[in-house]
Amino acid sequence: MPGESQHNNETPEPNIVIVGAGFAGLSCARALKDARAKITVIDRHNYHLFQPLLYQVATASLSPADIAQPIRSILKDQANTRVLLGEVTAIDKQMRQVTVNGTKIPFDYLIVATGARHGYFGKDHWAEHAPGIKTVDDATRVRADILMAFERAEVETDTARRKALLTFVVIGGGPTGVEMAGAIAELARNSITRDFRSITPRCASVILIEAGPRLLPALPENLSVEARNALERLGVEVRTEEAVINVASASVTTAKETIAAHTIIWAAGVRASAAGTWLDTPTDRVGRVVANRDFSIPGYRRIFVAGDTVAYRLTETSFLPGVAPAAKQAGDWIGKTIAARIAGRIVPEPFRYADLGSMATIGRREAVAKLGRMEVKGLIGWLLWSLAHVYFLIGFRNRVSVAISWAWSYATYQRGVRLITGQPGALSQKIEEAA
Ligand SMILES: Cc1cc2nc3c(=O)[nH]c(=O)nc-3n(C[C@H](O)[C@H](O)[C@H](O)COP(=O)(O)OP(=O)(O)OC[C@H]3O[C@@H](n4cnc5c(N)ncnc54)[C@H](O)[C@@H]3O)c2cc1C
Repeated sequence: MPGESQHNNETPEPNIVIVGAGFAGLSCARALKDARAKITVIDRHNYHLFQPLLYQVATASLSPADIAQPIRSILKDQANTRVLLGEVTAIDKQMRQVTVNGTKIPFDYLIVATGARHGYFGKDHWAEHAPGIKTVDDATRVRADILMAFERAEVETDTARRKALLTFVVIGGGPTGVEMAGAIAELARNSITRDFRSITPRCASVILIEAGPRLLPALPENLSVEARNALERLGVEVRTEEAVINVASASVTTAKETIAAHTIIWAAGVRASAAGTWLDTPTDRVGRVVANRDFSIPGYRRIFVAGDTVAYRLTETSFLPGVAPAAKQAGDWIGKTIAARIAGRIVPEPFRYADLGSMATIGRREAVAKLGRMEVKGLIGWLLWSLAHVYFLIGFRNRVSVAISWAWSYATYQRGVRLITGQPGALSQKIEEAA
């Protein structure tokens, strides 16, 4: 096997490098906690981020500290593991080295779990006008943009400009788009408008655009109808079968019309990290690395890829989905497999994905969920969604703090984190320029 020949025997304490401390990378590190190995976890951020709640930060429901936890503190009790803060820029498969901030880190085993970013279907210039939410910085920037739009609208006297400032377009009808549109509508209708004097709930318009025939295609059709109805009850205008053909500064054009909107949020497509380029190995059309049955890459038994950055075939027609439970299960399985190989034990059973179901929340009192054969909606769905998200949040402090924030927000309709901080995003700058 290329690059493997001189390393057929285990070294006493092999170097295991894990790139990315997201769901996959952290699960892998934890599964290796008892392994006789030197483990290095590398991430470009010093925190693990619970991405499923990012839109709650973007819509001022939670603060970043509620959904992020320092990687060092998560792994502090794991004596065989060190954490490095740095950006990986290259991987040498033959020499078995990872380049981090210009330094080369050697490995015997490598796990690449660097996630995904937004994909604009080849129209990368749209990103400037329609940011997606993937990091804490993205979320706080979008939060500032949304809040700035309300601030500007409060003093804007021109009717058309005011309307554009208060028009929020979300592109993409998957779970992120649905949750984002619902949260903005709720922010506009129930929370923000109480704080302003010249904005009434009717002034704000939230439009969710989906190219496909229905929202939430991963859920059964009756639940996607339910989600649509719930969004419409919140005042969101849902447009399906309407592909976006252009995104410009302060406007979105579909096949039917051009909508003037100062806040445009992208939730339509993803593109895998650059892992395929670093590893110089085959990828699928969205850049995910094509992996073997054990998540290793072709020709290299000790290099694994997991999470959103892998294309892992489950059946002839389906792939492992890009969701947190799939990333966790893959990371855990790879960690256990490596631990067994190091210890000379029989490796675990072949990987089997346990599908925990899908869910999406709409505002603060409705959600739709499919868990096995069970379908849940309405308030029960929302309670289930909240419990699942609080339960899976890492760290006791975060769980308590999120539960309290939600309970407070639920009881009072107040959004506690409506701060405009740091550099304004592109949208806010655009608003300033237009003023
Ligand atoms: C807004 C949003 C909402 C979501 N909602 C849900 C949901 O409700 N339910 C669900 O199951 N899933 C949801 N997902 C998807 C889920 O978050 C992902 O499937 C999951 O995070 C994938 O885990 P991962 O470990 O592959 O990647 P990530 O969690 O993205 O982790 C990748 C890590 O790699 C690091 N990294 C990247 N590049 C480098 C580099 N060059 N050098 C060093 N480090 C690097 C990053 O900093 C990051 O820590 C959502 C995603 C988003 C963005």
